[in-house]
Amino acid sequence: MVNSWLNNAHHYFTTTDCVLCGAASGLASDLCESCQADLPINQLACPRCALPLPHETGVLCGQCQTQPPYYQSAFVPYRYESPLPGFITGLKFNARLSNARLLGTLLRDALLANPPFRPDCLLPVPLHPHRLRQRGFNQALEISRPIAKALSLPLLKKGVHRYRDTRPQSDLDGESRRRNMRNVFRIEQGLNYRHVAIIDDVITTGTTVNELARVLKKAGVETVHVWAVARA
Ligand SMILES: [Zn+2]
Ligand SMILES: [Zn+2]
Repeated sequence: MVNSWLNNAHHYFTTTDCVLCGAASGLASDLCESCQADLPINQLACPRCALPLPHETGVLCGQCQTQPPYYQSAFVPYRYESPLPGFITGLKFNARLSNARLLGTLLRDALLANPPFRPDCLLPVPLHPHRLRQRGFNQALEISRPIAKALSLPLLKKGVHRYRDTRPQSDLDGESRRRNMRNVFRIEQGLNYRHVAIIDDVITTGTTVNELARVLKKAGVETVHVWAVARA
């Protein structure tokens, strides 16, 4: 009895099982080494917006050449391919909060391995209050926590508001997307930060983070960077 309790306690404190294959994954890690090594790394990407490219070109993608984004750079270590969509939809729609730790840890480790520009603060993309009530948490904020802790950076949780609940961007074409996003974000008071990193779970079209970057720069922020886990 005591032995089995001890075994359970030992198991509880020293190992977790890989969320993908069930193999023991070691202390405080949600993925085993081999599943971690199989993740789709976003290696060949546009240096500005992190759009995955079919082969290394060293030049900006077409979109960034014709209409560069308001943000300076995007750091997005994974492509939005299996198993990332499962992690992200599990977090957003099935409230699997443990996935936030997993996603935040993946982004944190990638940032620690390739330290990009160091901002003054992290800004998780705000959710509309209605969506926040529905979901109970902001996934971008949850993903930001391990990063803020590891890099000792303040997390901006107030002062930037999302005023309109937008339609899913994927239903819309480019021009409608931009129109859909207009006046979505508002900054309540002057921000005391010069360099901001926006944090999000996944970047699909990039319209949301670009609109947020536009509003931040209008409010006097000098440089805006985008850090996200996955890029479609
Ligand atoms: Zn595994
Ligand atoms: Zn680009």
